[in-house]
Amino acid sequence: MPRVIDDSISAPIPTSVPMRPLGRTGLSVSVLGFGASPLGNAFRVTDPEEGKRAVHMAIDHGVNFFDVSPYYGLTLAETRLGEALAGHRHKVVLATKCGRYGLNNFDFSAKRVAASLDESLARLRTDYLDLFQVHDVEFGDVQQIVEETIPAMRRLQQQGKARHIGITGYSLKTLARIAEAVPVDTILSYCRYNLMIADMDEILTPFASKRGIGLINASALHMGALTDDAPDWHPAPAAVIEAGRRAVELCKHRGEDLTSIALRFCADHSYASTTLVGMGTRAEVANNLRALEKPVDPQLKKDLETLIAPVFNHVWPSGRPENQDAANALHYASPQI
Ligand code: NAD
Repeated sequence: MPRVIDDSISAPIPTSVPMRPLGRTGLSVSVLGFGASPLGNAFRVTDPEEGKRAVHMAIDHGVNFFDVSPYYGLTLAETRLGEALAGHRHKVVLATKCGRYGLNNFDFSAKRVAASLDESLARLRTDYLDLFQVHDVEFGDVQQIVEETIPAMRRLQQQGKARHIGITGYSLKTLARIAEAVPVDTILSYCRYNLMIADMDEILTPFASKRGIGLINASALHMGALTDDAPDWHPAPAAVIEAGRRAVELCKHRGEDLTSIALRFCADHSYASTTLVGMGTRAEVANNLRALEKPVDPQLKKDLETLIAPVFNHVWPSGRPENQDAANALHYASPQI
């Protein structure tokens, strides 16, 4: 059943969203990006009609960046996003991915990449992508991604099927290693910069900004750990999930909403062009748009930092052993949120 987060979707919602350049692509993207994995039921079963209304509400209020993948809901998210974008395609910057097709189903070959793009275009009801990305690079063979996958994507770009090429993943070092070896237009990093963690700034932010690569920061809510409904499959250690639950409670106690504070923290990033939040309802879209304009109580910010400090910058293993970031638990000083 769809959750009701805020029954006041008719209350005032900002009518525009600040825009930023996406690296050197020439594209301009909204600081709040629409993560479409919830349309594929990645977190819970969502209502397709409500999902469509959420997409339309986001577009109507200035959100123009949409990110999806054939992996989300095993093609369901792309199909639903395609339906919702019918008649609106020209208003959005549309990104999808290739290479990941299931929990343990990866294929980064040139042949699969070409077929994947055509399949995505059909589901998304368009004849071009704005951004075509390799999904979760740390699960692949780096040499294959550098020498086969990305060159194949560049050939598809030359055919006009994709305007720009990017990579996505969890391992900061693998993302940087690949982008060092072969030019990419964008890098999407997830769960490495939000209230729970900020090590994206140690590696990827300086790397991308120096080269003018567009940086996309995904999972502002730490894949739901900063909400009252973290998914059972969340890979973070139990202490991280527990800290998120306590942070939600602390905010509720003060009459505030943690998701708004979390999103604001990400949207204020110095270099990331856009922050992706997974959304499947109008209430989520409305809350997240309002969050961009909401002032944050400085005392509450301090108290959240203190609460999160013991689990701050915890990471989990993801991908092939040789591609994982070396240390399992990197601890840096808590950020000023
Ligand atoms: P997220 O941190 O954005 O959290 C999403 C969860 O928060 C969902 O359960 C959603 O229903 C809920 N939510 C959203 N707004 C809310 C609100 N105002 N109040 C309460 N709950 C709210 O995690 P995510 O969805 O994994 O990340 C965002 C997007 O980034 C994804 O949809 C996807 O497009 C992209 N992403 C890409 C990769 C990759 O390419 N490897 C990995 C992770 C995420």
